[in-house]
Amino acid sequence: MTLDLRGASHRRLNPLTGEWTLVSPHRMQRPWQGKREAVGAQPALTHDPNCYLCAGNLRANGARNPPYEHTFLFDNDFPSLQSDAPPERVVDGLLVAEGESGVSRVLCFSPRHNLTLAGMALPDIERIVDAWVEETVNLGARPDIASVQIFENRGEIMGCSNPHPHGQIWATRHLPNELEKETHRQTDYLLRHGRPLLLDYLAQELERDERVVFANAHFVVLAPFWAVWPFETMILPRRRIGGFDEMKTDEKSALAVALSELTQRYDRLFDTSFPYSMGFHQKPADGAVHSEWQMHAHFYPPLLRSATVKKFMVGFEMLGSPQRDLTPEAAAARLREA
Ligand SMILES: [Zn+2]
Ligand SMILES: [Zn+2]
Repeated sequence: MTLDLRGASHRRLNPLTGEWTLVSPHRMQRPWQGKREAVGAQPALTHDPNCYLCAGNLRANGARNPPYEHTFLFDNDFPSLQSDAPPERVVDGLLVAEGESGVSRVLCFSPRHNLTLAGMALPDIERIVDAWVEETVNLGARPDIASVQIFENRGEIMGCSNPHPHGQIWATRHLPNELEKETHRQTDYLLRHGRPLLLDYLAQELERDERVVFANAHFVVLAPFWAVWPFETMILPRRRIGGFDEMKTDEKSALAVALSELTQRYDRLFDTSFPYSMGFHQKPADGAVHSEWQMHAHFYPPLLRSATVKKFMVGFEMLGSPQRDLTPEAAAARLREA
């Protein structure tokens, strides 16, 4: 008997983390009587006098933003990480803690209050990519930083209260959980097979061509085989690139195109300004070569079947494994058509 991935309940392995996702494709027809979210309209204002990210405005700590014209980077006024937290580790039986120091920065993508990545011109997205490169290089050079995590929370549904387009950069002394898992699994794969895990994975995806959403000369956007969120995607480079610091000029432009293409498709999917958490995973910033590492972006959007119906991660998903009904193949087809 062969397993029917379009009809039978099954689970799929995420080779980057070693975790499984439960897939229940037979449940797609069930009616929805659950919670509906309000559709958050994009603001009409290009400059909001009350926004702490708009150019020229005062922030909560009394600092005034410069009259910036493109991107603008500053240290978070209420940082999650203190730069001077002592690194010591305290162990009392099973109670283990260690000091975690680092830097949290905010990167405004544009002075325009009501713009999103999807609406931005390509040269402006390239400027954001340039800022990510610069921060990776500068923060990564510090001896007290092991990881530079770049991310963006978009939309009220994701807990982002300010619609002004911006992302964050958190650099930490230790590797965060996800980076630790992915480093471990990629190292293990390279030792066994002599090739980077994600390059082999991309080759398999390109050959099957079931889950690819968009591709250009340097990057491929796809719905990963093991995706948890309904319209989860990854952006993968075609050649081995460990981190932003290894990107060439034409690759930065191609990444800007991939980001623009993907976010526009998301917006068209449910005809809404599509919410998500996205971020880039890249090699640890510990000065080692990390030939096992392939940089990539994860997009985790919460919407399930319309602008107002969101996926909840509760019950079995909190206590057992994440579960999905819509298959990643069906999601990729929807995004290709959008
Ligand atoms: Zn603003
Ligand atoms: Zn990752």
